Amino acid sequence: MDLTLPSEDGFHWKDHVLYCEDVDLEKATSRFGTPLYVYSRKAIEIAYRRYADALQGIPHLMCYALKANSNLAIIDVLARLGAGFDIVSGGELARVKAAGGDTKKVVFSGVGKSTQEITDALNADIYCFNVESIPELDRIIETARQTGKRARISLRVNPDVDAKTHPYISTGLKKNKFGIAINEAFNVYRHAAQFPEQLHITGIDCHIGSQLTELSPFLDACHRIVDLIDKLKEHGIELEHIDFGGGLGITYQNENPPTPAELIANLRQILCDRGYDHLEMVFEAGRSIVGNAGALLTKIEYLKKGEEKNFCIVDAAMNDMVRPTLYQAWMQIVPVNTQKLPHDEQVWDVVGPICETGDWLAKDRSLSLEQGQILALLSAGAYGMSMSSNYNTRVRPAEILVDGDKTYIIRPREEVQELFANETRIP
Ligand SMILES: *Cc1c(COP(=O)(O)O)cnc(C)c1O
Repeated sequence: MDLTLPSEDGFHWKDHVLYCEDVDLEKATSRFGTPLYVYSRKAIEIAYRRYADALQGIPHLMCYALKANSNLAIIDVLARLGAGFDIVSGGELARVKAAGGDTKKVVFSGVGKSTQEITDALNADIYCFNVESIPELDRIIETARQTGKRARISLRVNPDVDAKTHPYISTGLKKNKFGIAINEAFNVYRHAAQFPEQLHITGIDCHIGSQLTELSPFLDACHRIVDLIDKLKEHGIELEHIDFGGGLGITYQNENPPTPAELIANLRQILCDRGYDHLEMVFEAGRSIVGNAGALLTKIEYLKKGEEKNFCIVDAAMNDMVRPTLYQAWMQIVPVNTQKLPHDEQVWDVVGPICETGDWLAKDRSLSLEQGQILALLSAGAYGMSMSSNYNTRVRPAEILVDGDKTYIIRPREEVQELFANETRIP
């Protein structure tokens, strides 16, 4: 049985029991029930500071990509460290406001911004719209005209580099829906420059994918973007910032992604070499801030031995954590208490109660298990709760945030009645 933890920033073993900071997770589940999301404040802060420290002395805006985990308590923890935010919807803007985040540090990405969302973002005086198409640009011009505001914009360019990650989370290729092709971007900037009353062109932006474990795609993209900045400069369009997006990977199993310090130093070197060290560096990190800071705790309901496979049926399911089935993602799973385990190790598929064959959390894992035991699915802080649903009319898990020896319920477990409270029958 492999009990290696992908990261020790927030979780560690103590006398064969898994702890989040100073909190015994077996005890936490008897108190709060299962399934349960648990996050470490300390791990979030460490991860954020890895970026912030590496950016010291450099003009920068460090944004947290809300969609990775948008609980208000987590937004607040990061806002208190001075973070800005990358949002992809009006709903996320509302969350930033509700958590007391600074909307002047918000960048707004996404291919389908509605007129209402653009209006709200203009009124909130956000830092920048990352524009993903010509019709979107036209809509921003029109909305700015109507509201009497001036929109700060950057074009999200698609640099056509292969991020070498799962196809569903690769975004920087020509065949993806994201951004404006880098070869067209020059003309779109020139078009935008004709509307100085409505638009303030401030930057350029790219986000090439998620869970990137190599430096080279980031550096390739950077070079291509700087080529474009050169060309814009020749034509009198001077930018103020360059936004490198998010996408830095984390360790789930044995990945060894570059550190934020390595990423930043290498990008910085390119900017210095090419005469753009005055440009503000913007980042939109999601997974690498919260991914390793969370775990999903779940109880074994049944052990079901089949002729070909052994199934460990737990009380968490794909509605709580969709990454394994959606991306064939491998996530570490361990018993939270390994003091008194049965001796025989067997190979198990860890599955949930949902009526779908795709409802699995882990496959072919060598584990010694017994009914009633608590398991922890690790590195579940990003794209876990934020992608959850109520499929099969399942209530979503409670979420707790650990701070030292304290635990805070930052979202209680849903009640079944809430799930259909707004549904009505027809006469
Ligand atoms: C999802 C997303 C991010 C964050 O990606 P991570 O891989 O979680 O760092 C940043 N920017 C944009 C535009 C995104 O869509």
